[in-house]
Amino acid sequence: MSAYDLIVIGTGPGGYVCAIRASQLGMKVGVVEKRATHGGTCLNVGCIPSKAMLHASERYDEAQHSLGAMGIAVETELDLQKMMAFKDEGVKGNVDGVAFLLRKNKIEHFHGTGRIVGPGKVAVTFINGETQEIDAKHVVIATGSAPAQLPGIEIDEKSIVSSTGALSLAQVPKRLLVVGAGIIGLELGSVWRRLGAEVTVVEFLDHILPGLDGEVARQMQKILTKQGLKFKLGHKVTGIDASGGGHKVAVEPAAGGAQETVEADVVLIAIGRVPYTAGLGLAEAGVALDNRGRVIVDEHFQTSVAGIYAIGDVIAGPMLAHKAEDEGMALAEILAGQAGHVNYDVIPNVVYTFPEVASVGKAEDELKAAGIAYKAGKFPFTANGRAKANQTTDGFVKILADAKTDRVLGVHIVAANASEMIAEAAVLMEFGGSAEDLARTCHAHPTLTEAVKEAALAVDRRAIHF
Ligand SMILES: Cc1cc2nc3c(=O)[nH]c(=O)nc-3n(C[C@H](O)[C@H](O)[C@H](O)COP(=O)(O)OP(=O)(O)OC[C@H]3O[C@@H](n4cnc5c(N)ncnc54)[C@H](O)[C@@H]3O)c2cc1C
Repeated sequence: MSAYDLIVIGTGPGGYVCAIRASQLGMKVGVVEKRATHGGTCLNVGCIPSKAMLHASERYDEAQHSLGAMGIAVETELDLQKMMAFKDEGVKGNVDGVAFLLRKNKIEHFHGTGRIVGPGKVAVTFINGETQEIDAKHVVIATGSAPAQLPGIEIDEKSIVSSTGALSLAQVPKRLLVVGAGIIGLELGSVWRRLGAEVTVVEFLDHILPGLDGEVARQMQKILTKQGLKFKLGHKVTGIDASGGGHKVAVEPAAGGAQETVEADVVLIAIGRVPYTAGLGLAEAGVALDNRGRVIVDEHFQTSVAGIYAIGDVIAGPMLAHKAEDEGMALAEILAGQAGHVNYDVIPNVVYTFPEVASVGKAEDELKAAGIAYKAGKFPFTANGRAKANQTTDGFVKILADAKTDRVLGVHIVAANASEMIAEAAVLMEFGGSAEDLARTCHAHPTLTEAVKEAALAVDRRAIHF
C-alpha cells in the first residue's frame, strides 16, 4: 500500500491545481516544493509580480502624461522601494492564498527537493539536508521552467539579469538593453521605460512578438516605438564586456555583418525559457525527454514510465500558467477515472503591455500557410465609443472565421483591456461558435467589447460603426 495516491513535485500553477483537484476527487495527496513559498514561477517571479509592476508603472505613466488632459493636475515622484513593496505584497497575498488552499484541501507539504528514485518512490531532501522517501501510486512532475541563457553571458541578477532580477532592480537604470522581443522582454521593457529608462530591444528575428499574428505584431511595434522603446530587429547579442563600469554589449546583424557596441547599465536576457528537470533523476528513472529537454508525455500526461506523469512548462506546448493549470486539472480527473481534457486549440495568449494584446486560436499567417479559406472581420478602436471617451483608441479586434462554415478560428485583440475581453472569444470557440453567433449576441454599451461584436459583423462586411 502506498502512503499517498499522488505526489506532485512542484507547486506552480500546474502542480498546486493538480493537487487540489486530486484531493477534491478523494485522493490522498502530498506536494514537494523546494521554494520557500508555493505558486511556482508564476506567483513568485512571473505572472503576478510582473503584472503588479506593469500596473504600478502604468499608473505612474498615466499620472505623468494622461491625467492632466482629464483636468487632474498631479505632481509625481517615484518611490521605487515602495513600488517594489507594493509588488511584494501582491505576491505575498497570492502565495499565502495557495498555502491556505493546500491546507484547506488537507494536502501534505514536503518542503524540499524531490527526486524520483523508483516507480512510485520520491526522495525528498529537506532544507536541513535530511532526506525522506515517500511512496505514492502516482507521481507528477510539475517542475516548470527556468530562464534560457545566452552562451558566454553570465546572469548575476544585478546588472545582467533574467526576468527575476528585472523584477527587483534597486534603481531605475539609465539605459536598459533587452535581449529578446518576446512577451517577457516587452512587458518588462515597458515597465522600466515608464519608470524612466531608455530601453533598447535587440531581437534576432525581423519582427517582435514571435508566434503572434503578424499584423498584431507590426501594430504593436509601432505603438511601442511611439512609447519610446527602440527596436533593433534582425540582430543578435554576441557578448558583453563588463570591464570599466557599464556594459558594452556586442551586437551583430543576425545574417552576419559588422559588429557594433551598444552601451547599457542593465542588460535583461529574455530569450525564452527552458524546461526545468535538474536533479529529478529522470535519466535513472527512465523518463524520456525530447530534443528540447521537455518531458515526453502521451495524451494522458503519462511519461515513458508507467505511474509517472508530467504537466505544465516542463512538457511541450505554450509556457503559460493557465495551460499548466488546465493540464493539472485534467490529469487529476484522468487519474480519478474521469474524462479530463485540455483543448489546445483554445488557449488564450496575452501580452500585458499598454495596450494589451490578447489572442486565441489561429493567426492569419497560420491559416494562410495551412491553405485554410477564411474571412477576416476587423474593427478599430478609433470607431468604438467607449475607447473614444477614454481616449484609449490604439488597437483593433480581428476575427478570423472559416470561409464556408463561419466557425471562428481565431480572435486577435489589441486594446486597453484585451486580457479580459478575450474570454468571450474563448468561450465561443469552445462551443464551436460562429462569427454570426458573436454578431447576434447583445453587448453592453458603451464597452470596448462592442468592438468584438462589430468585428464579428465585419466578417460579413456589415459593421455598423465603421
Ligand atoms: C516574468 C514572467 C512573466 C510571466 N507572465 C505570465 C502571464 O502573465 N501569464 C501566463 O500565463 N504565464 C506567464 N508566465 C509563465 C508562467 O509563469 C509559467 O507558464 C507557469 O508558472 C508554469 O507553471 P508550472 O506549474 O508548469 O511551473 P512553475 O510555475 O515553474 O513551478 C514549478 C515549481 O516546481 C518547483 N521545483 C522544481 N524542481 C523541483 C524539485 N526537484 N523538487 C521540488 N520542487 C521543485 C519550483 O521551485 C517551482 O516552484 C510568466 C513567466 C515569467 C518568467
